[in-house]
Amino acid sequence: MNMPSRFISLALIVVLTIPAVARVQPTTGFDLYSRDDELQVGKEAMLEVNRQMPLLPDSSPVSRYVNDLGKKLAAHAPGEPWPYAFHVVNQKDINAFALPGGTIYVNLGTIQAADSEAELAGVLAHEIAHVVQRHGTRSASKQLAAQVPLALLAGMLGKSTAAQAAAMGISFGVGSYFLKNSRQSESEADLLGADIMYDAGYDPHALAEFFTKLQDEAGGRGSELDQFFSDHPDPGNRVESVSHEVATLPSKVYALNSPEFLSMKQTVATMKPMTAEQIAAWQKKHARAE
Ligand SMILES: [Zn+2]
Repeated sequence: MNMPSRFISLALIVVLTIPAVARVQPTTGFDLYSRDDELQVGKEAMLEVNRQMPLLPDSSPVSRYVNDLGKKLAAHAPGEPWPYAFHVVNQKDINAFALPGGTIYVNLGTIQAADSEAELAGVLAHEIAHVVQRHGTRSASKQLAAQVPLALLAGMLGKSTAAQAAAMGISFGVGSYFLKNSRQSESEADLLGADIMYDAGYDPHALAEFFTKLQDEAGGRGSELDQFFSDHPDPGNRVESVSHEVATLPSKVYALNSPEFLSMKQTVATMKPMTAEQIAAWQKKHARAE
C-alpha cells in the first residue's frame, strides 16, 4: 500500500469511528447497594408511600395516561432495565419523585400545571434519569460509609446492604432525606432526561422550560412548590445546559401534544387534588383507622 492510500484508509477509519451522535453517558459512582438491594429498598418505600399518600387508583384514566407516557419514555432509558411504574398522588402541590428500582410518583398538581405533553414528559424523563443513575442509593451509600465504623461493618458481614442500612434507619419512604437530590444529581438528571426525551420524540427544551416556568411561578403559588425545589434544587444553568446537549443531537420534528394528553387535561381541569394540610389530616385519620 502506498502512502496516500494508507493515509486515506486511516482517515476513513477515524471518520467511521467517531460516533454520529454525541450522547450523555449515565453517571455511576460509589454504591453499596446491589441490584437486589436497590429493588428491595424501593419496594419497601413503595409500600410506605402507598400507605401514607392519597393515590389515584391505577385504573383511573389519568393514572393510565401517566403510566403509558412514562413507559414510553422508560423504553429509551439506558442502563439496567429497572421495572418502571408510574403512579399519581392526589396532591395539589407540584412535585414528582422516584424511588430506587423504578417506581415513580407524580402529583396531580404537576399534571394540572403542565401546558403540553412535552412538559409532563420532561418531568417523567428527569425522574427516570434519577433512577438510571441510582441517585438515591448513591447518596445513602455515602452516608453509610461515613457512619459505619469498620469494626461494626465487619460484625454486619453476611447481611445485605439494604438490611444494614435499614438497621441504621436509612430508608427511602415519604419525606426521606435520600430522595432530596443534590445540584450535581439534578444536572445529571436533566442531561440524561433530555436524551430520553429526544429518543422518545419530545423536544428536550420542554424539560428545562417547565422547571424554569415553575421557578418563575414559585412566588405566586405560595408553598405549593417548596417541596419540589427542595427535592429537585435548581442547578443554576438548566436551560443553557439542556440547550447545549440538544445542540449536539441531529434536529428532528418533535411531538408536542397527543389527543390523549388534551383529553386527559380536560379531565384534570375539574379535579380538586388535596392540599398538604388536607393530606396531613387524612394521614391522621387513616393511621387511626389502621
Ligand atoms: Zn431531580
